[in-house]
Amino acid sequence: MVVTKQQQPQIILLKEGTDTSQGKPQLLSNISACMAVSDVVRTTLGPRGMDKLIHDEKGNTTISNDGATIMKLLDIVHPAAKILVDIAKSQDSEVGDGTTTVVLLAGEFLKEAKPFVEDGVHPQNLMRSYRTASHLAIEKIKELAVSIEGKSLEEKKSLLAKCAATTLSSKLIGGEKEFFATMVVDAVLAIGNDDRLNMIGIKKVPGGTMRDSFLVNGVAFKKTFSYAGFEQQPKKFVNPKILLLNIELELKSEKENAEIRLSDPLQYQSIVDAEWNIIYDKLDKCVKSGAKVVLSRLAIGDLATQYFADRDIFCAGRVTEEDLQRVAAAAGGTVQTTVNNIIDEVLGSCELFEEKQVGNERFNIFSGCPSGRTATIVLRGGADQFIEEAERSLHDAIMIVRRAMKNSTVVAGGGAIDMEISRYLRQHARTIAGKSQLFINSYAKSLEVIPRQLCDNAGFDATDVLNKLRQKHALPSGEGAPYGVDINTGGIADSFANFVWEPAVVKINAINAATEAACLVLSVDETIKNPKSESAQGEAAANAMGGRGGRGRGRGMRRR
Ligand code: ADP
Ligand code: MG
Repeated sequence: MVVTKQQQPQIILLKEGTDTSQGKPQLLSNISACMAVSDVVRTTLGPRGMDKLIHDEKGNTTISNDGATIMKLLDIVHPAAKILVDIAKSQDSEVGDGTTTVVLLAGEFLKEAKPFVEDGVHPQNLMRSYRTASHLAIEKIKELAVSIEGKSLEEKKSLLAKCAATTLSSKLIGGEKEFFATMVVDAVLAIGNDDRLNMIGIKKVPGGTMRDSFLVNGVAFKKTFSYAGFEQQPKKFVNPKILLLNIELELKSEKENAEIRLSDPLQYQSIVDAEWNIIYDKLDKCVKSGAKVVLSRLAIGDLATQYFADRDIFCAGRVTEEDLQRVAAAAGGTVQTTVNNIIDEVLGSCELFEEKQVGNERFNIFSGCPSGRTATIVLRGGADQFIEEAERSLHDAIMIVRRAMKNSTVVAGGGAIDMEISRYLRQHARTIAGKSQLFINSYAKSLEVIPRQLCDNAGFDATDVLNKLRQKHALPSGEGAPYGVDINTGGIADSFANFVWEPAVVKINAINAATEAACLVLSVDETIKNPKSESAQGEAAANAMGGRGGRGRGRGMRRR
């Protein structure tokens, strides 16, 4: 470059190829990206929401209604829009439900903020008001939440089932929500206060109908690989002792593990004999323990299978770690790494063990387990994608019931709580002087997106329903507070009386996370891409950027 006297020399601060997009345009483009993301999941909200079919380059197809699942599969590369993916994920792991809600809310907060930003309002002012509003909203939710504590077990069960049913109503299996809701509640109650989610097993068996799904109060798993002789083993025991092992019961040719030098060929037989003795000794010890069911995480070979069959013992090898742990938890045994010294205390037991046909799979089922700290749901249904989605839906419901059990307060769903907070914030805004009144008002307006979207997705006239809701919620007596969208008639109804309930923590978490995400996006006014880190990330990242998200980079590079 020739620098003439008159020309200012160019100050180079960052490396060549660095892309910086900054200022208001950058902020506005980030907001647009987030709005586009929330538009993707918009139609999945609520009981009448639609599902998304996503297929990746490997040809896997997934049908889902779950916000977090969709966001995960979308593979979003826009740096700002990725924030929304993260909050959906965090909502999923924190509370398990409300993932669509959180993305929608964040998108709506930003949409309302956009005109202000265009008009030159400083984002910091917006953020401050948004944070105040979210704080007020959460306080209000806590105030409105109704506790279900202190009820009898039966009552509590039916209340929990209501919460589960609300979650399930928006899913593919919504048609059978009562059936599954009771199943989920039973499963969660079975594991009690155990924090390990994998204590509830979900086994998927294609075929049959949804109604053929069932709950095992104990453990069930698919029959493992078995050897000849297996068919002669008994397949049903009442009150059996169960031995859990983490060793191989197979005839090992020890020459593979050790080198043996023989000078006398006759000695060879003694080695073969020793090998047989080792395995027979092991098997004998298993039998002597008095166990009727032997499970091992490692292989149980044909010799052992036949040996057990001759002694009326059932065995299964290559049981997965998770299933073995669940048997241990349920039946009260301990997994052994040696067969020496098997004392009675390490053996588990259950009321009934049997091997049963489910669809065209055989299942090993342990029921009536004494400590009962685990449960298994066996899911049936047509297509694979259907069962997969059913599993995800049950996961949501399980999380919700566990949440509701821990902090047992609920709020009215169907947009009722959102309308009520919205009204409250508007009312509060009137007491504030200055610009932040406007900002809090737009925050309040954003909350209406939930009932509006519920209506839109069900094909109702959203304006009409929202007007009715606003009118109801404005009643000075406060009796209109639990009114939400009536998904059956297209009018409004008392959500609380109709048992459309959601745990308060879902809403609190959603509002908190969505506000934080919106503030995060608003606080960014510059994106800088370092060309070095890009090449380090390798081709995969580069390919991805070449797709939809490459916009920012493209500009910076092409200009020279
Ligand atoms: P999310 O992923 O956010 O949980 P959902 O698709 O599960 O999204 O929809 C949840 C919304 O649907 C909540 O606002 C809930 O109150 C509402 N909802 C669920 N069941 C009903 C119902 N029977 N009537 C009205 N609204 C309902
Ligand atoms: Mg849900």
